[in-house]
Amino acid sequence: MHELSLAIEIVEIAQAEARRHGNGRLLAVHLRLGPLAGVVEEALAAAFPLAAQGTEVEGAELVIERVPLVVYCPSCRAERELGAEVWLVCPVCQTPTPEVRQGRELEVTALELER
Ligand SMILES: [Zn+2]
Repeated sequence: MHELSLAIEIVEIAQAEARRHGNGRLLAVHLRLGPLAGVVEEALAAAFPLAAQGTEVEGAELVIERVPLVVYCPSCRAERELGAEVWLVCPVCQTPTPEVRQGRELEVTALELER
């Protein structure tokens, strides 16, 4: 399962970061997730506790921040935010645009440690 290997990767990042910041218990891992990251959020959320089992990350909460899909419209010369659209067209002038500016994110942004 794709999401399980991602969850393991996230756990490894969180572990390494937590060690750099002392030995406090890890309470939460914050993640930015774009709609084009190719990840099923529910599957990732379900895989995370499995990946964390037996590590220092066990028991920590995975907090997923959904990043909107942002494209650049060459007609408006502006960045436009898309909803759940499948077609990449500017929502203002309908110009098709392949230029995705934001939406592929999959990154750990913050950790919460017990002090
Ligand atoms: Zn436009």
